[in-house]
Amino acid sequence: MPESSPTHYMRLAIEQMRLSTGKGPKVGAVLANDDQLLAVGHKAPGVHAERAAIETALSEGKSLKDASLFTTLEPCVSIASQKEPCAQLISRVGIRNVFIGRFDPNPHIHRAGWRALRDAGVSLHDFTADLRKEIDTINEQFIEHFIAGTGPTGGAKFDYQLNGGKFEIQLSDSDERSIVTQWTNRGAGSIHAYAVQPVRVALARYASKFSEIDDPRAFDFTYTVPVNVAEIAVFTSDIGSVLVKVLEVEAGASNGAAQRFVKIEFEVRYQ
Ligand SMILES: [Zn+2]
Repeated sequence: MPESSPTHYMRLAIEQMRLSTGKGPKVGAVLANDDQLLAVGHKAPGVHAERAAIETALSEGKSLKDASLFTTLEPCVSIASQKEPCAQLISRVGIRNVFIGRFDPNPHIHRAGWRALRDAGVSLHDFTADLRKEIDTINEQFIEHFIAGTGPTGGAKFDYQLNGGKFEIQLSDSDERSIVTQWTNRGAGSIHAYAVQPVRVALARYASKFSEIDDPRAFDFTYTVPVNVAEIAVFTSDIGSVLVKVLEVEAGASNGAAQRFVKIEFEVRYQ
């Protein structure tokens, strides 16, 4: 395989992915122009892989006009810090082709990064099937021990009987403070949300969307509440609150289900 083939750069992006540090999925990125490698990047706390690669190339005076980006995860459309999202950064610097390793499983970003790039006139391509599988295998190992997410918004699916049912939500990419949520079995379609001091928890009864919740501190807080699918639990502590909507619960073999997990989406509030 020639050194300049797309597959070569995809593999290089996967190598970069393995170097990622910090919480969340591992991500690697490679920038190339024809047969020339321009820069590489991987995810680190507060820095996305695409931005790392782009900033490296620009700091070395390299032009990214008409360049190709190979990224193992769909570029983001909204991030916590004031920095522009990667999809916007990519189109602004003139990158012409983007190769995506997998679409973001976060329901807030899924296919939205692709759409933002398409609408900006960027040409989009997928990694090859075997390399997409390799990416999922690398992050699957991560997901098995998945105990943390990063705000301000996100989604997750985790086994609530591992790690004492704890799931830690970091406030944002740039703010590493976090709120720990805890979950225990309540059968199919429902789950107990627990709060460990100094965190407290409440059920946002009848609310079905995060936007319906004005002040998350207005609820009566306690240490545990039952949460049904489609309901929202509010965890709060002195650093802020996190709204967690339960999307799906599988209770495991004893309830006739093949798996045992809870699927959530969440939104961090600095209130
Ligand atoms: Zn990003």
